[in-house]
Amino acid sequence: KRILVTGATGFIGHILCRELIERGYGLTVLSRQKPDSVRSICGRVEVTDDLEKLRAHPGFDAVINLAGEGIADKRWSHARKEQLRASRIDLTRTLVGVVRTWSNMPEVLVSGSAVGFYGNQGDHLVTEDTEPHDEFTHQLCRDWEQEALKLETDGVRVCLSRTGVVAGRNGGFLQRMILPFKVGLGGKLGSGRQYMPWVHRDDVVSGLLWMLDTPTASGPYNMVSPNPVTNAEFTRTLAQVLHRPAVIPPPAPALKLILGEMAGLLLTGQKAIPDRLKREGFEFRLAELEAALRESVGT
Ligand code: NDP
Repeated sequence: KRILVTGATGFIGHILCRELIERGYGLTVLSRQKPDSVRSICGRVEVTDDLEKLRAHPGFDAVINLAGEGIADKRWSHARKEQLRASRIDLTRTLVGVVRTWSNMPEVLVSGSAVGFYGNQGDHLVTEDTEPHDEFTHQLCRDWEQEALKLETDGVRVCLSRTGVVAGRNGGFLQRMILPFKVGLGGKLGSGRQYMPWVHRDDVVSGLLWMLDTPTASGPYNMVSPNPVTNAEFTRTLAQVLHRPAVIPPPAPALKLILGEMAGLLLTGQKAIPDRLKREGFEFRLAELEAALRESVGT
C-alpha cells in the first residue's frame, strides 16, 4: 500500500511514518525540508516539496494530513493568524484538489484538527457532540475540517483527529514546560482550574492507525486521553515526576500581556473525553497521566 503524508516531519508525524514503514507501507511525504534531512527524520520515504507535482498521479491508497504551522510558536498577530490558517486550510484545499485528479481515489483521508475546535468550555464535559464556542481556534479547526470533509462527496472516507495537548519525548509542549521546572520555576498557569485535554503521542499514533485500518470509522474523533485533568493537577503530577517543586503561578493578566490572545491556549481549555474512540473500540495504552509523563520525560 502507498500512503501520502503531510506534516510527516512533525512531532507526531515522524513517529507515525516510522510505524507505517515498519508495517511495510510505501510513503511519499510533503516537506519543505531537504529530502536527506526528511529521510533522517522519517525513515525511507519519497519526498515532494509541492503537492501540485502530484497532479494526475495514479493515486495513493490513503492520505494522512497533519501539516500546519505551530499554533503556539509565535504570538498571534494578524499575519501569524493568516499563516496558521493558510498552512492548514489552503494546504488542505490544495490537497483535496490534487487528490481529485488521481485516477484512483484513496480509501481514506485522515486529517488533523484539534480540541481547540470547541473553544473555551470551562468544566463542561466535551464530546464530539458538544456545541463549539466561536473563537479563533474554533474557526481555524472548523475551516480545516470542512476542507478535508469535501472528499466525502468523492466517496472517500474522511476521519478527523481533534487532538488534545500531546505529550511525548523530545518535543511538543512538554519540552517547553520541563525547562522552567528544571530550573525551579515551573508552576500552574493562571488559576490552574482550566482543563488540559492531554494525550500521549503513542496513543495518538495508534489512534491515527486505527482510523486508517477501521473501515467503519469516519467523521470527528476527540484524540485525548480518557482522563482529562486540570492544569493544577497536571502541574502537580509533572513536578512529582520531575522531582521538582511547583511554584507560585504567574497571574493570568501577566500571561495575557506577554502572550496576547494566545494566552487563551494556556488559560482556558476543554474537559474533553474520547467518547467516539472508546465507544467504537479503540483502547488507550497510556491513559494515566503519571505513567504517560514518566514515559515522556524518561524518569
Ligand atoms: P509539528 O509542529 O511538530 O509539525 C508540523 C508539520 O507541518 C511539519 O512536518 C512541517 O513540515 C509541516 N508544516 C508546517 N508549516 C507548514 C507550511 N507552511 N506548509 C507546509 N507544511 C508545513 O506538528 P505536530 O506533529 O505536533 O502536530 C501535527 C498536527 O496536529 C498539526 O497540524 C497540529 O496543529 C495538530 N495538533 C498538534 C497538537 C500537539 O500537541 N502536538 C495538539 C493539537 C493539534 P516541514 O517542516 O517538513 O515542511
